[in-house]
Amino acid sequence: MSETIFEKIIKKEIPAYVVYEDDVVLAFLDISQVTPGHTLVLPKKHVADIFDYDGDLAATVFSRIPKIARAIRTFDPAIKGLNILCNNGALAYQSVFHSHIHLIPRYTEDDSFGLKWADNSADYTPEQYEAIAAKIAEKIEED
Ligand code: 5GP
Repeated sequence: MSETIFEKIIKKEIPAYVVYEDDVVLAFLDISQVTPGHTLVLPKKHVADIFDYDGDLAATVFSRIPKIARAIRTFDPAIKGLNILCNNGALAYQSVFHSHIHLIPRYTEDDSFGLKWADNSADYTPEQYEAIAAKIAEKIEED
């Protein structure tokens, strides 16, 4: 495993604008500031992506998110919403392979954040939904 920039931040080898820290979790401003207040929440333990978590670590990391989200929302009254995003794999836009969750405050419809979200439901029959759900459910049972 090669060390990512986030390990260096966790070890305080390089600086970051920290907003929250405890034994398990660190949260700091994303350098890109897609919108003002854009924050990353991550486990200090190395997990590459969502596929790498156990349930306890995922629960602990996510348990910190509501209070960080509330703090972000109240820091600027212009904030009207918040997107929570976790990219997993290069194809899914992950660029730092130490898992992290983006909290992206939303100000206006045309602020700097956007998502493309197609509705393909017209292409699916009930049988196709059923087949996909059954295969995923089977894999969950096996995990
Ligand atoms: P990803 O594309 O993996 O979901 O997100 C990685 C994020 O890390 C990007 O939004 C990028 O701006 C941020 N980032 C990359 N290098 C640094 C850094 O050195 N410091 C901080 N604070 N953020 C970084």
